[in-house]
Amino acid sequence: MSSSTVITNIASLVTNDPSLGDTSPLGLIRDAAVVVDGDRVAWIGESSKAPATDNRVDVGGRAVIPGFVDSHSHLVFAGDRTEEFNARMSGRGYSAGGIRTTVAATRAATDAELEAGLVRYLAEALRQGTTTFETKSGYGLTVQDEARALRIASAHTDEVTYLGAHIVSPDYADDPAAYVALVTGEMLDACAPHARWIDVFCEKGAFDGDQARAILTAGKAKGLHPRIHANQLSYGPGVQLAVELDAASADHCTHLTDADVDALAAGRTVATLLPGAEFSTRAQWPDARRLLDAGVTVALSTDCNPGSSFTSSVPFCIALAVRDMGMTPDEAVWSATAGGAQALRRTDIGRLTPGAYADLALLDAPSHVHLAYRPGVPLVTGVWRRGVRVV
Ligand SMILES: [Zn+2]
Repeated sequence: MSSSTVITNIASLVTNDPSLGDTSPLGLIRDAAVVVDGDRVAWIGESSKAPATDNRVDVGGRAVIPGFVDSHSHLVFAGDRTEEFNARMSGRGYSAGGIRTTVAATRAATDAELEAGLVRYLAEALRQGTTTFETKSGYGLTVQDEARALRIASAHTDEVTYLGAHIVSPDYADDPAAYVALVTGEMLDACAPHARWIDVFCEKGAFDGDQARAILTAGKAKGLHPRIHANQLSYGPGVQLAVELDAASADHCTHLTDADVDALAAGRTVATLLPGAEFSTRAQWPDARRLLDAGVTVALSTDCNPGSSFTSSVPFCIALAVRDMGMTPDEAVWSATAGGAQALRRTDIGRLTPGAYADLALLDAPSHVHLAYRPGVPLVTGVWRRGVRVV
């Protein structure tokens, strides 16, 4: 039997449901309360009107937001790329193989080692308010290693993405077409049972538009839904392919033509921005303002991975997005919660509304704006996931 709990004395509550609060996209309610029953939100409103419950938690005039939905991460890996980062930040060249370094270490790791790493980064993310995360394969690049990464990930989240097409496997350096055949054939057959999504890194040096189309189309035929690493390092066909294939998300979106922006605005595909990657590579920021002004739905996510963005912190990404990408604090918080949910085509997370999962983050601050106003400060002091207080 479930018991009900009222979380009350919330100074400022982000619901992401405009019909519940003020009419802004955040659906803010002042002096609010949330009633949790089992794993779901049962009631939302002003504290003074809250119904009777079994238990009561007084949060002392702090802010509550929906738990973050981190819709893009790469957490099944082994090894370390400190030297590569250090060299890059010191202005030195680095000759080792980037993703290939992680592929070699991941292949050499045991299942238990890979799972222990995943669990550690998930705990780290949870402490910072992330209650839902997506994660990908992509550091195995063999039938067996890709399938095992997905099997390990699927024990910890429903949002699992097959990324056999991260780079062309070093084993197929001389024959990329044969690798695409593997990714769309035997590897797909082995991976599809463990995944919901299929992804491809559509970029010069990875997979071109024709290859990406073949890979995503093959995945769709197996019941996987597409998402794309698109237009990160250069202009290219990824974003428009994402819209054409009704991908849930085009991720990175740093180098966009006007036609790319128009395509995103006209379609259902969410633009997922990953400022941890630009931060960690000293690259040009994606222009969130341009996308938002065009009417594109924007999500914010960490891209947590050992090479180009080794942060699990959504609050850090919110601060970067506000400081350097033209987002308002309200927009950034929406994008990291409701936007992430939309990038995963979910309506039961990313907002606090009756019937949604009771995934909440409590901030040691009076307002969600403090996530950008107080960068680097660990403001998340409480987390409920599926109605259970876990932090
Ligand atoms: Zn990525």
